Amino acid sequence: MRLRNIPGSREAIAASPFVVHDEESMKGKWHEFFKNDNPIHIEIGMGKGIFIMECAERNPDINFIGIEKYSSVLLRALEKREEKSDLTNLTFIRMDAEYIENVFDRNEVDNIYLNFSDPWPKDRNAKRRLTSSRFLKRYTNIMKESGRVTFKTDNNDLFDFSIESAEESGWDILAMTRDLHNSEYNEGNIMTEYEKKFSGLGHKINMMIISYSRSKLNEKEAVNGKE
Ligand code: SAM
Repeated sequence: MRLRNIPGSREAIAASPFVVHDEESMKGKWHEFFKNDNPIHIEIGMGKGIFIMECAERNPDINFIGIEKYSSVLLRALEKREEKSDLTNLTFIRMDAEYIENVFDRNEVDNIYLNFSDPWPKDRNAKRRLTSSRFLKRYTNIMKESGRVTFKTDNNDLFDFSIESAEESGWDILAMTRDLHNSEYNEGNIMTEYEKKFSGLGHKINMMIISYSRSKLNEKEAVNGKE
């Protein structure tokens, strides 16, 4: 999602109390920020933030951080966030997730949500996909070992790529369906903006939940001669 550039969006974001502006200085300090020890869940590429706002409303004992690359999109999320100003367990960051290790410390994040991530269909752009081995490696450097990545998409090619990428990177697939809305995993599912749009068009929604074991990854790296 990339909306037309909205003049003044950067300034509006800079003035918002619902956005963390000096995100790199927060590394290792997110629990201090939320003033509790509750788990931290992040959504990368939250778009207009519909999913994460509902997550925060339904789960007051979890801290949520929505990450979005584009100011014009984040601005739309902020319009809705302002209507829910009483939520104390939700904040936003405008950044490219490529730099996520500068913002979160080892073991700081419990769960990551990737919803309808950009597919980057050309092979030469595969490393930009949020489920590529490069990104999965970044996630292991910020997540607790018990943490999970939940990924939803209607894009079958991206889903197939993500299964391969997770397996090759040594992650375990804990749950998987190619038709979320007609599966056992649909109970409690919170629909994202794209999920509503594409399921409305008759597309089936793929979903997987993955986790990793640090010792297994170390073993794999040793075999590959990286350590
Ligand atoms: N998650 C929302 C949903 O399901 O309705 C939006 C999906 S939209 C296709 C993907 C979003 O991810 C866009 O808003 C895009 O700007 C954002 N995005 C893509 N790559 C990103 C990155 N590297 N870092 C942060 N945001 C990113």
